[in-house]
Amino acid sequence: MLEAGGVIGLPTETVYGLGADAMSSSAVRKIFAIKGRPADHPLIVHVADISTARALSRTWPTTAEDLASAFWPGPLTIIVERGPNVLDEVTGGRETVAIRIPRHAMALRLLQQFGRPVAAPSANRFGRVSPTTADHVRADLGSDVDVVLDGGPCDVGLESTIVDCSVDPPQILRPGSISSEQITEVVGRLESASGPSRAPGMLESHYAPDCTIVPIDVSDSIPSDVDRVLDGRSDPTRFAHDLYTLLRDCDRQSLRRVAVLLPDDVGVGRAVRDRVFKAAALRRH
Ligand code: AMP
Ligand code: MG
Repeated sequence: MLEAGGVIGLPTETVYGLGADAMSSSAVRKIFAIKGRPADHPLIVHVADISTARALSRTWPTTAEDLASAFWPGPLTIIVERGPNVLDEVTGGRETVAIRIPRHAMALRLLQQFGRPVAAPSANRFGRVSPTTADHVRADLGSDVDVVLDGGPCDVGLESTIVDCSVDPPQILRPGSISSEQITEVVGRLESASGPSRAPGMLESHYAPDCTIVPIDVSDSIPSDVDRVLDGRSDPTRFAHDLYTLLRDCDRQSLRRVAVLLPDDVGVGRAVRDRVFKAAALRRH
């Protein structure tokens, strides 16, 4: 399927991806067409081993090597300067490329058997909630995707942490289950993100359900007019795992207003807060 330039739904430990041969322009363009994703939003390239990652990059800094040894396979995406073999379609015309080795056994087997890098964004329509089960992918993309591999519910349930190693010190462009504390431990110094994000797609509303999300911090009280309260505070890791399924449930039940008790801004809690704020950012009605 991938060899023939097809597009498949594939499980990873973060969310389900919509994968295609990263070295084929026509295959990669299909991903953008199916998702309705703007062409300047780059894709993450999934590889089976570190040597393939190095081969896609112009330089492979020590920070990238150290992070890859510490966290790959796993939910960490590393951005480095792109090599000459990386397609413009994959990087959205940028001089950098985002790479990761996923931890999911089925994804790893697929990458090893295919023997080439696979470009894969999340397998949802642009701007909508990411899929964490094969059923979510089928519900979102239907017959637009040739095959959906069912690898069960995603372990983590949130998109990967993105670290930009093309700058020194490295910078976290998107929080994920691998925390800034864990990354700082490996690279020593980390620039805290300030100013406009250099990761396209990070600023506007994203991960948006139809219902209105009302984030509730520890000091806030819960408004009386909400239809449901989701508890992200007591167990942030478990909540990260369940979040996108819960948001989909709320939409299926046509709930209008849903309060989310926010976890503390540490560890995976930071990523949960990020996604909840993004889900809350856009009011469709
Ligand atoms: P998704 O796979 O849907 O989680 O989206 C991948 C995200 O990775 C994009 O929206 C970008 O924010 C980020 N990304 C991928 N490649 C790059 C890059 N070269 N530079 C900065 N951000 C990137
Ligand atoms: Mg996405």
